[in-house]
Amino acid sequence: MTLPDRNRRFLLARVPEGMPQESDFLLEEEAIPACPTNGVLVRSLWISVDPYLRGRISGVRTYVDPILTGSLMESAATGQVVESQTPHFKKGDFVAGMWGWQDYAAVDAARVRLVDPHEAPIQTALGLLGGTGMTAYFGLIELCAPKAGETVLVSGAAGAVGSAVGQIAKILGCRAVGTVGTDAKAEYIRSLGFDAALNYRTELPYKESLRRVCPNGIDCYFDNAGGELTDAAMALMNFRGRVSVCGQISQYNDRSQDVGRRPFTEILVKQLRVEGFIVTRWASRFAEGRKQMALWLKEGRLRCEETVYEGLESTPRAFIGLFRGENTGKALVRV
Ligand code: NAP
Repeated sequence: MTLPDRNRRFLLARVPEGMPQESDFLLEEEAIPACPTNGVLVRSLWISVDPYLRGRISGVRTYVDPILTGSLMESAATGQVVESQTPHFKKGDFVAGMWGWQDYAAVDAARVRLVDPHEAPIQTALGLLGGTGMTAYFGLIELCAPKAGETVLVSGAAGAVGSAVGQIAKILGCRAVGTVGTDAKAEYIRSLGFDAALNYRTELPYKESLRRVCPNGIDCYFDNAGGELTDAAMALMNFRGRVSVCGQISQYNDRSQDVGRRPFTEILVKQLRVEGFIVTRWASRFAEGRKQMALWLKEGRLRCEETVYEGLESTPRAFIGLFRGENTGKALVRV
C-alpha cells in the first residue's frame, strides 16, 4: 500500500466553556511523520472517545497535565503498523496506544502494545480489553469488593464502563441495578442481564425510584455520573457499604458550582467506604485484568455494544455525543 503524503490530525483550538463545541477543535494537515528509530509508523483504524478527555481540555492540571491549545488531541487508538524500526513490531501488526485523533502516528515502541486480532475484534482493545474494561474490572473488584447476593448500583449503566460493571457484578452473583438516560438504554441493560434499570431522566424523585429498584438498599455503588442521583444513592447505602467513585460526568460541563447534599453524616453513621480512583493505579496488573476479561468475553459472559462514528472528521462530534447520551456501549470512531 502506498501511503498518502498528508496526515490529518485534530488539535485543541480553544478551551471549551461548558459543553464542548465542534469549533473547539481544529482539523489540520501535515506531512506524514517519519517512522522513529526504535518505533513504528501506525495507521489509525479506530479511535476511542472518552469522557475523561473533558478534564484534559479544561486548561488546568487534573491528575495529568492538560492538553494545551494548539496541541494534538490525545486519546487511545488502535491501528496497523505500516513501517517499523524496532524488532518488537513488524509491518502489518495490529497495535494499541495513546497516539490520539490523527490518521497516522509515529510512536516509540515502548508506547504501543500488540493487539491479537484473533482474540477479539481489534477495537475491543479500546473497550472491554482496554482502559474501559480495566476501569470496570479493578474499580469494581478492588474498591467495591462485591459479595454474592449484594446489591450493586451503577450509574451510566448503558455506557462502556457501566455496562461492563453490571455484567461483572452479575458474574460475581450480585444483584445488578443500573441508571440510564433513556428507556431504550434501560431495555439494553436488562438484555445484558441487569436485574433492574432506572431512567434517571423520567423516574423522579430519585430517592423513591431508587428505593423501588433497590428494595434492600445499596451495598456497592459504582458511580460514573455524580450529581443529584448520587446524593440520593448515598442516602440508600447499607451499613458498611462501599462506593467506587469512577466518574462524575454530570458535572464535567456544569459551571453552576452547585454544592449538593453533604454526604459525610451518611458516610459516618453507616461506616461507608468511599474511594475515588484513576485506573492507571492498577497499570501493573492490567495483564491480569485483561486475561480475566478476555476469558469472560470468550465464554460469552460479557458483551458490549458499539456506537460507531465514521471517519476521523467525526471525532469531535463523537466526543461531544458522550455528554448528550448519544452512545450505547463503547463510543468509537472508525477512521
Ligand atoms: P460512557 O458511559 O460510554 O458515555 C457517557 C455516558 O454518560 C452517556 O452515554 C450518557 O448516558 C451519560 N451521561 C452524559 N451526560 C450525563 C449527565 N449529565 N448525567 C448523567 N449521565 C450522563 O463513557 P465511559 O467511557 O464508559 O465513562 C463512564 C464514566 O467513567 C465517565 O464519568 C468517565 O469519566 C469515567 N471514567 C473514569 C475512569 C477512571 O480512571 N476513574 C476511567 C474511564 C472512565 P445516559 O444516556 O445514560 O445519560
